[in-house]
Amino acid sequence: MAKFINKREHGVRVEYSRSFMRKTGAGGFAFPCDEHGNLIVDPARTSSTLAGLVSRVAALVDDTSYRDDGVRRDEWPTVTAAVIECERCRAHVTLSGFTNTCSCGADYNMSGDMLADRFQWGEETGESVADILAADSDSDDEFDGGRCSDVDGRL
Ligand SMILES: [Zn+2]
Repeated sequence: MAKFINKREHGVRVEYSRSFMRKTGAGGFAFPCDEHGNLIVDPARTSSTLAGLVSRVAALVDDTSYRDDGVRRDEWPTVTAAVIECERCRAHVTLSGFTNTCSCGADYNMSGDMLADRFQWGEETGESVADILAADSDSDDEFDGGRCSDVDGRL
């Protein structure tokens, strides 16, 4: 059994947005903010983008076709993959998929168990190594968890 450096952890990422929706139905606008509705300034945005954002929000506040939905809270489930120490070379291997390969070529399952050498894969089932590795792309859906949200305040 491989030595675990970090166990797999489940968490929650919380994001807030100030939301303005059209009173007629679909459509609207929101911007990232803190839990009090204060705009979060993204340093990657240019100042002209920020100026446009501020003027758009100001226009929305005065536009009676929009409804101010206040501060919206969204929660996103997160998963931090476990990390093990490779039994062969002591390198760290992140267990993020169905099959996790160390730089030395050793393969591990998601539980940290070392798998048989690849030349043995599919001996009993007739599958190829490519067939088995393709299962990884199917398992990525596991992390697309549900989403909960509610409006918990107004400015
Ligand atoms: Zn290794």
